[in-house]
Amino acid sequence: MTRAVVLGGGLAGVLAAVALTRHADEVVVLESDRYPAGPRPRRGLPQSHHNHVLMTGGIRALDELLPGVVDDLLTAGAHRRNLPGDCLIFSGEGWFHRVRTEADLIACSRPLLDEVIRRHAGIEVNEGVRAVGLTGDAEKVTGVRTGTGALLGADLVVDATGRRSQAPGWLAALGVPPVEEVTVPSGVAYATRLYEGSGDVPAVMVHPKYSPARGGTLFPIEGGRWIVTMTGDPPLDEAGFLAYARELRDPVIADLIEKAEPAGPIRPCHDTANRRRYFENAQLPEGFLAVGDSLVTVNPVFSHGMSVAAMSAVRIAEEGPSQRAAAEVADRSWRMAVAEPRKGGNAKVGRAVLSSAGLAAELFHGQALIPAVRDHQAVFRAMVDDLVEPLTAEQAISQFAWAR
Ligand SMILES: Cc1cc2nc3c(=O)[nH]c(=O)nc-3n(C[C@H](O)[C@H](O)[C@H](O)COP(=O)(O)OP(=O)(O)OC[C@H]3O[C@@H](n4cnc5c(N)ncnc54)[C@H](O)[C@@H]3O)c2cc1C
Repeated sequence: MTRAVVLGGGLAGVLAAVALTRHADEVVVLESDRYPAGPRPRRGLPQSHHNHVLMTGGIRALDELLPGVVDDLLTAGAHRRNLPGDCLIFSGEGWFHRVRTEADLIACSRPLLDEVIRRHAGIEVNEGVRAVGLTGDAEKVTGVRTGTGALLGADLVVDATGRRSQAPGWLAALGVPPVEEVTVPSGVAYATRLYEGSGDVPAVMVHPKYSPARGGTLFPIEGGRWIVTMTGDPPLDEAGFLAYARELRDPVIADLIEKAEPAGPIRPCHDTANRRRYFENAQLPEGFLAVGDSLVTVNPVFSHGMSVAAMSAVRIAEEGPSQRAAAEVADRSWRMAVAEPRKGGNAKVGRAVLSSAGLAAELFHGQALIPAVRDHQAVFRAMVDDLVEPLTAEQAISQFAWAR
C-alpha cells in the first residue's frame, strides 16, 4: 500500500495513523479542527471537557503501540490508580474492599492525554482540513474530497471522524448499500466540573442502584485538580450540582467538593447514546476502513472508547487494516454496554447503570477491555462473595489515608 489517508486527528485517528506507518509508505491525517496551543479543550472534541479515564486494556495497548507513552503521561501529571485497590467504589451491591489487582486506570484531562500521545507519536496532522466525501465507486474508494474542493488520492481511507461520522452517507453517494446502524439511548446526561484538589485522593465512584441512573465520579487529574462528573439528570447550577452530589447513594463526593474551590463552569453533555455502525457487515468497497467512535460509541459511563481505539490500533499494526479486526474489538465494548433483546422482543437495551455486582464485575474482569487480569477472582470476591463482610461507608472510606 502506498498512501493511507486518515480522516480525523482525534485519538482513534492518531493511533490508527501510528499503526498504518507499518503498512503504508505514506500516512496523511486530515483534521477539520485546529489543535490549541497546550492541553486545552477544543471545539472538534466537545467531550474533552468531561472526564476521560483510560482503562487497563487501553493502557497496555498504548504502551505496546507507543512504548514509553504511559510514563510520559504520568510525568505530565496523570494519576495511576489500581482498580479497585486505589478506588473508593460504591457499587449497586455495596462498598468495594481495597483489593490490589493487575488492573489500573489512568486519570488526567482528555486534552493532556491527546497532547502527550500526539507529541509522542510524532504524527504530522493537516489541521483545518475537513473531509466532505469520498471518491471512487462502490467497488473501490480512491480518495477523499475536502471542504475546499481539493481531491486527495489514497489507496486506503480510514474514517476516524468520531461519533458524528458522515461516512455512511459518503459511501451511499458512491452507490454502496446502506450500513446498518443501531442506536440505543443511554438515558443519562453528564455534568462535569473541575475543582482545585489534592492528588492524594482515590478515584471515587458512586454507582446508581436503580433507574434513574444517578451516579457520580471524582478523579484526580494533572495540575492539582479533580474532575467531578454527575450522571443521570444533573442540574447545571452551583447549588443544584452540589445538592445532586449530596443526594447520591452516598454523599462522599459532595463532602469532598464542598470544601474545594471550583476551577471552571459546570459543563453538560447529552450526547451519550450507544451507537454501532456495522461497517464489517456492509458490502464495503476496497480501500475503506472505519475505526473508533465512528464504528462504536458506548455510554461514557463504561469508559471504553479510548481503549477500543488503542486496542484496534494494535490489531491494525499487527494484522494490517482489517474492518473485521476493528469490529471484533468494538463488539466487546458494545456487548458490555447493550443487552441483547429478550426472546421474541426486538429492542436492545442499554445496561448502563452498573447496578448489580455481577455487571460491575463483568466490567472489571469479564471484559477483554481489561485483559489478562490474572487475579480477577479477587476482584470478584471483593464485590459479590458472601464470605466477605459488607463494609459500612465509614469503613470503606477509612481504608484511604486521605480520610483519616
Ligand atoms: C462525556 C464523555 C466522556 C467519555 N469518557 C470516556 C472515558 O472516561 N474513557 C474512555 O475510554 N472513553 C470515554 N469517552 C469516549 C471517547 O471520548 C471516545 O471514544 C474517543 O474520543 C473516540 O475517539 P475518536 O478519535 O473515534 O473520535 P473523536 O475523539 O470524537 O475524534 C474525532 C476527530 O475527527 C475530527 N473530525 C470530525 N469530522 C471531521 C471531518 N469531516 N474531517 C476531518 N476531521 C473531522 C474531529 O474534529 C475530531 O478531532 C467519553 C465520551 C464522552 C462523550
